[in-house]
Formats: sequence, structure tokens, C-alpha cells
Amino acid sequence: MATGTAPTGGRADLHAHTWYSDGRDSPERLIARAAEHGIQLLAVTDHDTLAGLSEAESAGRAQGVEIVPGIEFSTYIRNVEVHVLGLWIDPHCPALLQAVSGYEAMRRQRAERMVEKLNALGVKLDFSQVLAVERKGVFGRPHVAQALKDIGAVGAFQEAFQRFLGRDAPAYVPKRSLGAAETIAAIHAAGGVAVLAHGLVGGANRPHVEAAARLGIDAVETVHPKLGPEQSAWLREFAGKAGLAVSGGSDWHGEGWSEGGIGEWTIPLEAAAALRARAGGLVTKAG
Ligand code: AMP
Ligand code: FE
Ligand code: FE
Ligand code: ZN
Repeated sequence: MATGTAPTGGRADLHAHTWYSDGRDSPERLIARAAEHGIQLLAVTDHDTLAGLSEAESAGRAQGVEIVPGIEFSTYIRNVEVHVLGLWIDPHCPALLQAVSGYEAMRRQRAERMVEKLNALGVKLDFSQVLAVERKGVFGRPHVAQALKDIGAVGAFQEAFQRFLGRDAPAYVPKRSLGAAETIAAIHAAGGVAVLAHGLVGGANRPHVEAAARLGIDAVETVHPKLGPEQSAWLREFAGKAGLAVSGGSDWHGEGWSEGGIGEWTIPLEAAAALRARAGGLVTKAG
């Protein structure tokens, strides 16, 4: 993006997944969708992995969509799972690669453990049925949810979360992760911007957002399909007071696996440029 000279009216989606984590689209397919919906700048932010980024960069070049190399880390603040996006990261940074190492094995073991819990609940699901769900990278709950749907144990993908896999449901298994401070440090070491993803969702509350700011987050998402208007407004106001930038995106996971449509959750290119300016400490935060 030509920062400062970007044409007005352009849109950015700074949060999206591919089949390298729990999305259903290949990077090519995701980027084609983004292009169809007028997105000029797209962040590819798979959960806990960098595996899809080189493919995304080439597909972006081929399709004329600028790609922001990203990642979405799961971590915990005050025992609540929160997600931190790293945007404009260098995917070859050793500290970042070190931070990512271990997540793949952890996520596979966790998926196996969820299957064991389902079996103990009387649901006859074999791990091979989870392996049969299309996936190119790390395991996530959506793969288990889809397997439950495929074998007819649930009628709908969402029902798998409601009955079995949601945070308070009986087959839920928490993730192990780096702490929030280490996660933010790894993103910064890789030259990236650390963004609190969908704060105020999934058990996170205002104190969690405030704690994330104290831990050195650079920005908060204010545009996301799970954020209601009041939550977005509070986050915008908080960002202003705390001297943080704002971000947003669709959190697209693919047809049937997404809450909001691609193209509906965007920020202006100018806002993305202001966010990018936080990379490498170019802007000193107030407050
Ligand atoms: P994991 O990182 O393996 O815990 O999986 C979390 C992912 O599952 C989220 O990023 C969403 O893609 C998906 N997810 C979580 N809760 C739900 C839900 N209630 N309905 C649909 N998808 C969900
Ligand atoms: Fe996800
Ligand atoms: Fe998330
Ligand atoms: Zn996400």
C-alpha cells in the first residue's frame, strides 16, 4: 500500500483465515473472494501458524490484492482466552518461528483429547473422521465440529459448539499457549503490529482490554462480526483514550464456518495505513 498516497475509498480487511488453520478456503480462493468484494488490502491471519503466508503472498500478487502477512495467536489474560493478531510480521523472524513452534503438536493432541471426551459422552467419533475433514494446517475445533456434522452426530455445525465444543460445553479442551506478554513480544520482534482481536467477546471484558493495553498492545479491533455497536463504540473510545490504533476485518473462515460475510467488515485504507505506521515503533504511543 502506498501509505499516505492511497486513493480514498479503498477498503481493507485485516482478519481472515485459510485452510492452513480453521478456514475452508485456500489462500487463492480467499483472495479471489476478497477481490470480488472490492478489498484492496487483506491480512491473512491463520491461528497459531505461518504456513499459508508464502502461498498467500504469491496469490495476492497474481490477483492484484495486497497481502498483509499476519497471524492470530491464542493466549490468556486473567484466565480468559483472548486472541492477538500480529500484522505486517516478518514470517522468517526466528523469535516468531520459535513462538509458533509447538502449537501444531499442541493442537493435534487437543483435537485427539476432544475426541476422547466425546467418546466418553457416548458420541461415536473416531479421530480418522476428524482427519477426513479438509485441512492443510493446524487443527481447530471447527474440524471436530465438521466431523460431528459429517457423521450425523449433530444436525448443524453451530450445534456442535452449543452441545459439545463451546467454552462451557462438555467436550471442550483449553489450549496451551504462550503468555500474552510473550505473544506481543514475539509479534514486535518480527516487526509487526499487535492487535487485540474481538475484545469484549468470549468472556473478555473491559478489564481484559485494559490489561492488554498495559501489556503493550498497539491496537484494538473495532470492526468485527461478533462486536455489537455498543462494544465497538466503547473500544473506539478506549483506543482514543489509550493512544491505540484501530483495526478490523471479517474474520472470514469460509462458507458455513463464518459469522459475517467477506466485504461487510472492513476499514478504510487510511486507517490501515495509520495502523501500519505503528510497526517498528514508528509512532510513539500516548498514555
Ligand atoms: P480453537 O482455536 O480450536 O479453539 O477454535 C476456535 C475457532 O472455532 C474460532 O476461531 C472459530 O473459528 C470457531 N468457533 C468457536 N466458537 C464457535 C461457535 N460457537 N460457532 C462457530 N464457530 C465457532
Ligand atoms: Fe478461527
Ligand atoms: Fe479469534
Ligand atoms: Zn480469527
